[in-house]
Amino acid sequence: MSKLSEEKVFKDPIHNYVYVQDKLIWNLINTSEFQRLRRIRQLGTTYLTFHGAEHSRFSHSLGVYEITRKIISQFERYNYPDWPKEERLIALCAALLHDVGHAPFSHSIEEIFETDHEEWTIAILLGDTEINKVLRGNSEQLPQKVAQVIKKTYPQSIVVSLISSQLDADRMDYLLRDAYYTGTNYGNFDLERILRVLRPHEGSIVVKESGMHAVEHYLMSRYQMYWQVYFHPVTRSSEIILRQIFKRAKQLFEEKYTFKWMDSAILSLIEERLNLETYLRLDESLMQYTFSCWMNEEDPILSRLCERFLNRKLYKYITIEKLSEEWLEELKNVFVSIGLHPEYDLEIDYPYDRPYDIYRPEQGGNGSKEKAPIMLLNYNGSLSEIASKSDIIASISGLHEGKVHLYYPEELLIRHIDRLNDNILQIFNLNKEEY
Ligand code: ZN
Repeated sequence: MSKLSEEKVFKDPIHNYVYVQDKLIWNLINTSEFQRLRRIRQLGTTYLTFHGAEHSRFSHSLGVYEITRKIISQFERYNYPDWPKEERLIALCAALLHDVGHAPFSHSIEEIFETDHEEWTIAILLGDTEINKVLRGNSEQLPQKVAQVIKKTYPQSIVVSLISSQLDADRMDYLLRDAYYTGTNYGNFDLERILRVLRPHEGSIVVKESGMHAVEHYLMSRYQMYWQVYFHPVTRSSEIILRQIFKRAKQLFEEKYTFKWMDSAILSLIEERLNLETYLRLDESLMQYTFSCWMNEEDPILSRLCERFLNRKLYKYITIEKLSEEWLEELKNVFVSIGLHPEYDLEIDYPYDRPYDIYRPEQGGNGSKEKAPIMLLNYNGSLSEIASKSDIIASISGLHEGKVHLYYPEELLIRHIDRLNDNILQIFNLNKEEY
C-alpha cells in the first residue's frame, strides 16, 4: 500500500500535530475496532480523582504512533546502519495498535475476570476484524508480524524495543499525556531532547551518553507520576468499588439471581465466555449505562455499589504499616458484629498491584514479560545500564517498600459508632464526641 496523495493531520495537545502519510495507517485509524478506543478512557477511573483525566486510548494510541514515527524519521534521516528500513510500516502499525485490545476499566476487569488485554489485541489483529482485513490488504503476513511485535517475539528486536522497553514510545506518550490531562506538572520532560539522543544499536534502542540527563528527567517524572497520579489512593478507592461491582454481579449470576437488566456483552463478560464480537462491544458507555440500570436492582449490595460509583461516594482509607493475618481476622469479626459485609465493606490494597511501575534496572529484555533496561551508549562505544552511571536514577529506581491501605465505607462505621471499642475507633480515626 502506498502513500496518501495528501498527508492527513490530527490536532493534538501533546504533539501539536499527528502526521499520517501512509494509506495503511489512515485505513487502520478508520476501522471500527480502532474507533472504539475513543470510548475507553486512558486512565480508567482516574477522572474521579483528577477531573481533567477524560482523555481516551484513541488519543494515546495516535500519540504513540506519532512518537514512533518521529524516532524512525530521525533514524532514516541520519541513515543509521543499525536501523532496518524495511521495518518502518510494521513498527508504525504496532505502535498504533498496541492498546487496541483494552477493555473499559481494563485493570479492574482483568483482576476479576482474568482477561488479558494483550491477548485480546492479538485476537483482534489475527481474527475476523476490519483491522485484520486492512493489514492483510497490505501483505498476508502483516497481521502475524504486528502480533509478534506485541508479543515481543518479533525477530527484529529493535522494533519491539521501540514499542515496549523502559524508554519506549508508549510510556513517553502516556506520561506526557496523563500529566497534561490530570493537570499535574510532575510528568513533563523534554521529549524533543530525548528523541534526539536515541540511537539504533545492535537490535535495540540506546541513549547517547550525553543524553543521560534528559533520561534522568524522564525517569524522575515517571517516579512522580507513579506516586502522585497512578498510585493515588482515591483512584484506588474508585477502582475497588468497580472491582466490587463486578465481583458482586458475578456472585449473583452464580447464585442464579435474576437481573432486572442485563446486556448480552456484559453477560458474556460475567459468564467468562467472551468472544471477539462481544468483547468489542464492551466500552465505557455500556458499562456506565449498566451501572445506572443496576442501581435499581433488588440486590442491595449491587445497587449500593453502583450508586457509590456513579455518584462518587468512594470508600475512605487508612494506612497500615504492617498487616498481620490475626489482626485482620479480628477486624473482620468487628465488621461482621456490627452488620457489615467483610467481603464488600473492607478491601485491602497492596501498592504494587498497578499496571504502571517505577524504573527497575534488573528487568529482562526481549521475549520476557518485563521490559528491557535503559542502556547508555558510551563515547568509547560500550554500553552501560543507566542506573550504574546516574546516582539520581539509582536512588529512585527499584522497589519501594509500600504501606498497605484498608478501604471501607466510613458512614456505615459511623452509624454503628457506639458499638466500636476504643482500639477500633483509634485505628479508623473516629471520635464518638463528633457524631
Ligand atoms: Zn499504551
